[in-house]
Amino acid sequence: MEAIRIHEFGEPGVMKLETCADLQVGGGQILVDIRAAGVNPVDTYIRAGTYAMKPDLPFTPGMDGAGTVAAVGDETAHVSVGDRVYLAGTLTGSYASHALCSASQVQPLPDNVSFKQGAGVYIPYATAWRGLFQRAEGRSGETVLVHGASGGVGIAAVQLARAAGMTVIGTAGSEQGAALVAEQGAHYVVNHHDAGYTEQIMDLTGGLGVDVIMEMLANVNLDKDLNMLAYGGRVVVIGNRGVIEINPRDAMARDASILGMVLLLASPEDLAAIHAGLHAGLENGTLNPVVGTEFPLADAAGGHVAVMEPGAYGKIVLIP
Ligand code: NAP
Repeated sequence: MEAIRIHEFGEPGVMKLETCADLQVGGGQILVDIRAAGVNPVDTYIRAGTYAMKPDLPFTPGMDGAGTVAAVGDETAHVSVGDRVYLAGTLTGSYASHALCSASQVQPLPDNVSFKQGAGVYIPYATAWRGLFQRAEGRSGETVLVHGASGGVGIAAVQLARAAGMTVIGTAGSEQGAALVAEQGAHYVVNHHDAGYTEQIMDLTGGLGVDVIMEMLANVNLDKDLNMLAYGGRVVVIGNRGVIEINPRDAMARDASILGMVLLLASPEDLAAIHAGLHAGLENGTLNPVVGTEFPLADAAGGHVAVMEPGAYGKIVLIP
């Protein structure tokens, strides 16, 4: 088998494609033949060695992927050899031709969803679901601002919120990204680099503010967010890359809540609920992952450079 291996933390170039011994499925494990792997910003933090979770070296990166079941080491497993699946994490890393998973890390992929799309399901859609429904408790009829809607989590949040009957305002930083966000179901799109874009958002809500904010860059936006919330509003901190000063009075004055979240802290019960909801949405077509750019697995470094550049446009996937 082939896999990207990281022998030292550092720049994208530390990722090298290597030929490795074939993986053998153990008790309770599933072996997946990977057809596409998803690149997430968190993969870059782990590769650089700056993330809270530091794997032992050497390791194969990647949590997202999709493919077919190649072997099953658990007679009670819910999947069989040949089944199409998406990965919800792996034991051995998804940037590879094959990966070992625990049974709960393998989820059925409906036939109408391609492997490339399946590689963009777990982290983006499960994060969006958890933020929108389990943390913010977003409800139909409410207004949500997806602050950073053109990337993986943002597009998922737009599709989920639209299907749930919410009014959706999405932001993007490029024209191409803005067009994509509108195509994916946002009722309104604004550019988060425009001067005065927060006033545009307030105008769109008749001056009342939004009920929920899904925040992809809290260190830049949290202060502005608090001032765009309606009474009882909730902002979910999904992405954050630094520190910011806020005035707590802005939260106080509207009975607002700031909710943190990390998908990897979700309980098994919450994750099971999330996957059930995602399966239904993928099957009925309301959830439709957008593949932006493809790289060959050997150029995982190119994927890591691209995912950190401005002008996000859907998911970046690696093809083994
Ligand atoms: P992505 O695909 O790279 O998308 C990044 C998004 O942020 C794009 O829509 C980008 O828009 C937008 N953005 C850039 N500058 C912004 C600004 N000033 N204000 C608002 N948005 C801005 O990344 P992703 O996979 O969607 O993840 C988004 C963030 O959430 C990342 O920081 C990631 O690490 C984090 N995350 C956290 C969890 C968790 O469990 N908490 C899970 C998944 C992801 P333009 O490029 O168009 O400007």
